Amino acid sequence: MRIWTLITALSMAAGPAIAQDYPARPITIVVPAAAGGPTDTIARITAQAMSKLLGQQITIENIGGAGGTIGTGRVVRAAPDGYTLVIYHVGLSTAATLYRQLPYDTKTAFSSIGLITDAPMTIIARPDFEPNTLSEFVAYIRSRSVKTTMGNAGVGSASHLCGMLFMSETQLQVTTVPYRGTAPVMNDLIGKQIDMSCDQATNTTGPILGKLVKAYAVTTKARLKSIPDLPTADEAGLKGFELGVWHGLFAPRGTPPDIVQKLSVALKTALKDPDLVKRFNDINTEPMTESRATPEAAQHMLVSEIDRWAPIIKAAGQYAD
Ligand code: ASP
Repeated sequence: MRIWTLITALSMAAGPAIAQDYPARPITIVVPAAAGGPTDTIARITAQAMSKLLGQQITIENIGGAGGTIGTGRVVRAAPDGYTLVIYHVGLSTAATLYRQLPYDTKTAFSSIGLITDAPMTIIARPDFEPNTLSEFVAYIRSRSVKTTMGNAGVGSASHLCGMLFMSETQLQVTTVPYRGTAPVMNDLIGKQIDMSCDQATNTTGPILGKLVKAYAVTTKARLKSIPDLPTADEAGLKGFELGVWHGLFAPRGTPPDIVQKLSVALKTALKDPDLVKRFNDINTEPMTESRATPEAAQHMLVSEIDRWAPIIKAAGQYAD
């Protein structure tokens, strides 16, 4: 009995001390998608700015597959000590309904840290794809005798959602080809192995400007700053087509509140770092405002997006498992 009292007393004493010293060793941020893709790029820029503020190295570990659920599951099961975190996006919320065998409840699995950015998406194709405008593109896909192939990052990923939206708006059927993230999708588009994709501008800005892929539209209300002649999907004929991709930073549930607080302050401050702002702007996205880079806003986004997508997914009756 006495030994347990002693252990309890020691661990109570150790708790605040550990949080106070945090971070005492390098932090790992899991990106549940391939290296070199849009989420990875956002994560690396954010990690670099946060690392300067926290005085510790932050390593990015890419664990792609199954629409991000493999990497996310790894973080959910990690020790809630602030040393293993995840940066992902809307796919966290859609997976909660799409993957019926998910071994955790997404609504309660995390100590949310904050939102990072809302990235526009772009509808793109291989560089030698014939059509030049969105309406030509839709008509061409409809008239082809072969089925158009569309690369995505797996069921529930942002590229998958964009594809579903595109198909339902145009009443077209394309063949989806899943990858571990959209970095390899981009390689195969440039290499003309697949026909089209829809991906965050944080991955497509460079290839579009370099004419390595063809771009037809941006999925948000506003045009992209560095590609102003690219119309919005709405302007180009897909009325009401709108999709932005929120990204956030999350820790496993049970992370001590003062560690969450430290990480949240570091994130908020990092999002104002002029170097980060410039690098985000260069890839056509913006840092979240201070009021949204908070644990409350991230948790609210996670939960409200689960509630928003669940009835849509259930009505479609298409699950990942
Ligand atoms: N863009 C991907 C998606 O469609 C993920 C990634 O590779 O970052 O969700």
